[in-house]
Amino acid sequence: MNFNKNFNDIAENYLFAEVAERVAAYAKANPDKKVLKLGIGDVTLPLAPEVIKALHCAVDDMSKAETFKGYGPYEGYEFLRQSIADYYLSNGVNLQLSEIFVSDGAKSDLGNILDIFSKDNKVLVPDPVYPVYVDTNLMAGRKVAYMDATAENGFLPMPDENTDADIIYLCSPNNPTGAAYTKAQLKQWVDYANRRGAVILYDAAYECFISDDNLARSIYQVEGAKSCAIEFCSFSKTAGFTGTRCGYTVIPHGLEKDGFSANRHWFRRQATKFNGVPYIVQKGAAAVFTAQGQKEILQNIAYYKRNAKIIADCMDKLNIWYTGGTNSPYIWLKCPNGLKSWEFFDFLLNNAQVVGTPGAGFGKNGEGYFRLTAFGSEETTEQAVHRIEKLLVR
Ligand code: PLP
Repeated sequence: MNFNKNFNDIAENYLFAEVAERVAAYAKANPDKKVLKLGIGDVTLPLAPEVIKALHCAVDDMSKAETFKGYGPYEGYEFLRQSIADYYLSNGVNLQLSEIFVSDGAKSDLGNILDIFSKDNKVLVPDPVYPVYVDTNLMAGRKVAYMDATAENGFLPMPDENTDADIIYLCSPNNPTGAAYTKAQLKQWVDYANRRGAVILYDAAYECFISDDNLARSIYQVEGAKSCAIEFCSFSKTAGFTGTRCGYTVIPHGLEKDGFSANRHWFRRQATKFNGVPYIVQKGAAAVFTAQGQKEILQNIAYYKRNAKIIADCMDKLNIWYTGGTNSPYIWLKCPNGLKSWEFFDFLLNNAQVVGTPGAGFGKNGEGYFRLTAFGSEETTEQAVHRIEKLLVR
């Protein structure tokens, strides 16, 4: 037996595991100090009442022979795929139900999708970015090329005709930078991908935070995207499903090459390795799209956006450079006093007991930056901001 040697190429610890380890060590050494966490992008508000109601009903369904459900369809129940299709239609995107695949969350599908692509594909990933894209490719033995996301390009790299790529990852609104592509910018990516016969893996996990109409909620709002893009979305941040687990992936039938269909390959892959998302969870997810569900979910998103504003106001007050926070739950800030990301992490933890995420953990261009999230409770956010102000005010 031999282990997969590609694991030598990835960082020893997953970023958030490293953050958790350092915080646990600090808490153990300082049991009297209350640590405030604005680090990992986990939500704090409970599931919406409409979702809870649907989950309860679905549990009852499982108690009666007439409504009990065993294995479900690999691609998800039609009732949920129809709700997702209707939601896309409300954003001007027409999808067939067979183009929608329900998943247990975007992270798994973002990693698993690589099964359908050849090992020798050239992969292009923005730097900094959500670490899953890089690690999953390195684990599979692929080489990864990076495109620089910097303050100069607004952390939104654009296509470069001199760069060769087969698989392109885009994440908008972006984790960690909070930057989001306009439809016009995405059109350039779609045209680039179509010209090259490349695929865009478009991560729209934070789509629900978009309030500016010029920004894309879905890459399929851009003409030509159905022949070059796969879109990943999630109920995690939209509706607080981080622990409940549900998401969906859209693979249009138009995404074909040399007689192969991405949609058919993915269906075949899922039928082999995946047995679907629990019926109960899918019922809860469908409730997100009812009129009452949408109303409740939008209230939760507004709550997180208020937190983002509290953090942004603090940065303004301290004269700290930052992006994000308006169409995104993340504030991406430049570490004050020229500190490096992990230095600022330790400084904040030791002196204010506030936890954020070091930008360097998202890529080399993240060095010197730091991410704070708006997913904490309002109380935690206010307390954390108060401590940061006290620490950094000159
Ligand atoms: N994509 C991005 C950009 C994320 O930040 C996250 C979670 O933080 C995910 C995907 C994972 O979402 P899920 O909880 O659906 O697996």
